[in-house]
Amino acid sequence: MTTAPHLLVEQALDLINHYSRRARSAAGDEGRGYRPLPEVVGEVAAEVPGAGVEDLHVLADEAYEVFARADAGEDVAPAVNALLAPAAPTPRLGADGAVVWEVADDQAALRAALAITLLDWVHVRGAERLGLCNGIRCADAFADASPAGRKKYCSTGCLNRHKVSEHRRRAAAGA
Ligand SMILES: [Zn+2]
Repeated sequence: MTTAPHLLVEQALDLINHYSRRARSAAGDEGRGYRPLPEVVGEVAAEVPGAGVEDLHVLADEAYEVFARADAGEDVAPAVNALLAPAAPTPRLGADGAVVWEVADDQAALRAALAITLLDWVHVRGAERLGLCNGIRCADAFADASPAGRKKYCSTGCLNRHKVSEHRRRAAAGA
């Protein structure tokens, strides 16, 4: 048995937004290229076996579906469960009372980690705190941890670009 590493939601988002072909094509930047996993998620990559970029695309697109459904106000459960099922993680109680998830196939460790992070997020925060960026030429997935829970942009960069374009639009309309 292999232990699925703990993936922070930020690491899950970096993985999804970097490798998801759906996110890239929606933003029109498929040509930007793909970096190796350690450069995208950091040290946690050492805890899972190396995955080919094609496998990472598949995994990221499946996870992206969770955010697309949340953004459309649809039930996310089928997408979370579809991500989870092939990895079949088994819970084990760790020494310090922590829940540890194990997989029989070590190649499924990253899938399990990603699925469990999304499962936890939806369970604790709710699917309404997942969405897709409304930014200009961006369709990245985001998880909203803000107190108000009304996030519409993946980053302050996308929010600021939106504000600048709104300001220009208003200025042009008023001229
Ligand atoms: Zn964005």
